[in-house]
Amino acid sequence: MSGKTTSEQVFQGIGVSPGVARGQILVYRIAEEAIPHYDITPEQVSQEIARFEQALITTRQQLHELQQKISSGIGSDASSSILDVHVSITEDPALIEPVITRLEQEKKNVEFIFNEITRKYIHTLQELPDEFLRERAVDVQDVTRRILQNLLGHTHRGLTSVPPGTIVVAYDLAPSDTSSLDREHVAGFATDVGSHTSHTAIMARSMNIPAVVGLHDASQRVHDGQPAILDGYSGTLIVEPSEQTLYIYGQLQVKRHSLEERLAALRDLPAETLDGHRVHLSGNIELLQDIEGLKHVGAEGIGLFRTEYLFLNRRDFPSEEEQYEQYVSAVRAMKPHPVIIRTIDLGGDKFHSDEVTPPEINPFLGFRGIRVCLAHVEMFKTQLRAILRAGAEGNAKLMYPMISGVAEVVQANRIVEEVMADLRRDGVPFAENIDIGAMIEVPSAALTAEMIATEVDFFSIGSNDLVQYTMAVDRVNERVANLAEPAHPAILRLLRNCVEAAHNNNIWIGVCGEVAGQPLYTPLLIGMGVDELSMGTANLPRVKEVIRRMKLEEAQELAAAALHAIHARDVVAMLKALIQRIDPDLLSS
Ligand code: PEP
Ligand code: MG
Repeated sequence: MSGKTTSEQVFQGIGVSPGVARGQILVYRIAEEAIPHYDITPEQVSQEIARFEQALITTRQQLHELQQKISSGIGSDASSSILDVHVSITEDPALIEPVITRLEQEKKNVEFIFNEITRKYIHTLQELPDEFLRERAVDVQDVTRRILQNLLGHTHRGLTSVPPGTIVVAYDLAPSDTSSLDREHVAGFATDVGSHTSHTAIMARSMNIPAVVGLHDASQRVHDGQPAILDGYSGTLIVEPSEQTLYIYGQLQVKRHSLEERLAALRDLPAETLDGHRVHLSGNIELLQDIEGLKHVGAEGIGLFRTEYLFLNRRDFPSEEEQYEQYVSAVRAMKPHPVIIRTIDLGGDKFHSDEVTPPEINPFLGFRGIRVCLAHVEMFKTQLRAILRAGAEGNAKLMYPMISGVAEVVQANRIVEEVMADLRRDGVPFAENIDIGAMIEVPSAALTAEMIATEVDFFSIGSNDLVQYTMAVDRVNERVANLAEPAHPAILRLLRNCVEAAHNNNIWIGVCGEVAGQPLYTPLLIGMGVDELSMGTANLPRVKEVIRRMKLEEAQELAAAALHAIHARDVVAMLKALIQRIDPDLLSS
């Protein structure tokens, strides 16, 4: 093979789906179709239109078949709803009508005209500042490529059949590639672009396949057949691993495996410290299929259901019924444990449409979270109805994101009361006494927590945003990521203020940002008085292990010392020393 290297190459990206894959690389490149270009006679126009319509029909059929395959095989709602978006693209007048018009005007073959129109359309989407719309370009590209292939009579080359142990490396993977890939044989996938919110990341997590995104130009620098290790924990792709790396990974694998086995035994044991202090451990979900895994690790509820995922990748709003089905499924699945349903947190880096979340220069400081809901009251009310109704079937709680002060909570609560009055009037069963919580993730809310505490039943700290807004560190900018310090003195002071405000008002306080799932920070959070931690499935057993091996008393001592520390690194050093003593395996694997 040309360009074969003997030395190891390491590519660093972002680990978006945990696990380690070992196998051989398959570079997945999408070949540019050679598009024929010729003139047609006026009589041939109707023939070309018919060809185009047939290609659209065939494409829809293929997508429906794919959807059926998914629902019978993989059972991934995420894949299925993305394919719904794909079907809708095949019906999009913005793509279809100009083709017909230009066919009639220019009298060229339909592939040529279609390719011209879609390329411009995709280019426009790619240039938009809005991340959601840019990601939409991937969907349009994926579907239009399929339509073109059908026009040209080519079969769609997918990843449906690959050799066992394949690590797919690509610039990006289109949703129809990931949803149709050979799950038996694909060991992992790695892409040059992407973020935590990109389709690839969502799909990887829902399929439980190790994945790394944001590898820059890796797909240009590797070759088919090269042996590789893909580490979805650390976000690395190691190509042609040396004997030494293989040995280290082998050891790490054995260690991880025995740690996982040891931690699996904790599943039904309480998250209780050695001196008898009970902590509530729950999970974060984006999609319903995340629930199975959470139950498997013994989560005592859902501490954060990011409902905005139901609103992404579509033009319309999910109806009350559609939302109800989602929420009630979660509530039933977790019964009797609580499910905290967060009202949509659109804006920031998650967008729906220009009407709801218009492009902005500073979206993280703009129209986001509760601000959007308070401005689109009907949309908000539809969601509230669905949540309140789902609450009648189990233990649902309601939570507002991006609260910046008590006035927003009062306003939102008033809308909840109006919705309750409507439901009562209509005789629809709902949760009359639903608990309502505020996310504390904006510094102004953290500083006025004692005012907000009088209006809600619980707090949940959104540490991802609280750190971003307090320290002026954009949470999606990898260049400043090292400045985001959850143990910074400023964050600890805000946290202390929130805990005191909550407990003085007899309400509980949780943390649902990433830090809640980092075992290193568990003693700090518990020592500071946090009552609940909510995190992704993979980390829950580790956090439980820390809780079960420490004393509340020592965590409180550590927290008191942390509040005197000048540097976050000093707090981290104290935490490492504690974890090193109670379970060193947690630091090394
Ligand atoms: C957070 O900000 O910490 C949080 C949990 O919410 P999200 O990550 O969805 O903004
Ligand atoms: Mg947040």
